[in-house]
Amino acid sequence: MSRIHPIYDAMAPTIFEHMSGLARAHDAINLGQGFPDAPPSPDMIDAAARALAERSNQYPPAFGLVELRDAICQYYARRQGLDLSRDQVIVTSGATEALAAALLALVGPGDEVILFQPAYDSYAPMIRRAGGTPVSVHLSPPDWRYDAEAIARAITPRTRLLMFNDPLNPAGKVASDAERALIADACRRHDLIAICDEVWEDVRFDSAPHRSLWSQPGMAERTVKIGSAGKIFGLTGWKTGWLCASPDLARAIGRAHQFLTFTTPPALQWAVAEGLGRPDDWFAAQRAVWAGARDHLAHGLERAGFVVLPGAATWFLCVDLVASGVAIDDRSFSERAVREAGVASIPVSALFEGDGPRHILRLCFTKDHALLDAAVERLARFRDQLKTEAV
Ligand code: PMP
Ligand code: GLN
Repeated sequence: MSRIHPIYDAMAPTIFEHMSGLARAHDAINLGQGFPDAPPSPDMIDAAARALAERSNQYPPAFGLVELRDAICQYYARRQGLDLSRDQVIVTSGATEALAAALLALVGPGDEVILFQPAYDSYAPMIRRAGGTPVSVHLSPPDWRYDAEAIARAITPRTRLLMFNDPLNPAGKVASDAERALIADACRRHDLIAICDEVWEDVRFDSAPHRSLWSQPGMAERTVKIGSAGKIFGLTGWKTGWLCASPDLARAIGRAHQFLTFTTPPALQWAVAEGLGRPDDWFAAQRAVWAGARDHLAHGLERAGFVVLPGAATWFLCVDLVASGVAIDDRSFSERAVREAGVASIPVSALFEGDGPRHILRLCFTKDHALLDAAVERLARFRDQLKTEAV
């Protein structure tokens, strides 16, 4: 008899880990897993190095350094107009841990959780491990629209929560005011808690400020808002994130957090606290570099005859393979392109359970322009090779 929990028994490594492994094995350009190639900001490295040398290296408080929790409150007040207090903030080891802690604390056996798909890959397994059932609401390219009727159809008397990732990875979509309002309406009407994964809140290229579901009427007490320094500062390896919730919810989720990781390295917390206090133009300069790379990849792909979907946020662009003249599905394209063309990518169907589109490819653009050019050239050559195979 297997002693392994059935959820993990048959589970494959994440698509991100799989593709990065293949990229290393085949010495491919890695436009799969999302991370910037550029060296990190010297300001952030200096802040972390100073903290390692000058501050305590012992366990910080389980809910995070007070200085970081206060810095998160001030950051959200300044940039999103939110009024948070430190007892509403818990620092976690990345957004992934915040998601896990929230789901463990809030989902029980038999509970249903509304899950928009495509979805970050940890959501569904964590809901199931907590005893719940994910109930999918599919979003469709090119506009990935949230539909009130589709949401209403998915809600039953057992529905307890809704997961909302805005801006949306992999699509780069930002929900409209009307879409946020209709999701808030569903939560209020059916007494649902919203777990809002907003890790991409500050990686936006539409020059609009991020607005959280938290600020919709009646939502502050039923929203768990999750953020990540990994995205805000382009430091994915730091795995420093947080969640914000009402004091009651935060306390309960904190109990789950205390037996997951308990706490997060203090030097990184000090550095992130310092970083969040930097002026807006410091963030704008970093965003401009990412925006330049995004435009560069989009133009390069379009010049090479690929059709790029609209998207206003994240480090990713999505390509419509069918419209770009590719006859194989996204998974086959990804698996072959990393081996045969030397470019790693993410097939968006990997972020769907059940029937989803199979013709969308996600590419990470936070790379050097010359590397992006080389990747486009390789992808175009591979597409042409596929066409000759087809005849
Ligand atoms: N949620 C989403 C939507 C993400 O895209 C990511 C990382 N790409 C995470 C959560 C995980 O963030 P972290 O690395 O801080 O755990
Ligand atoms: N979320 C990151 C991405 O979308 C990857 C995170 C991971 O590798 N688990 O690329």
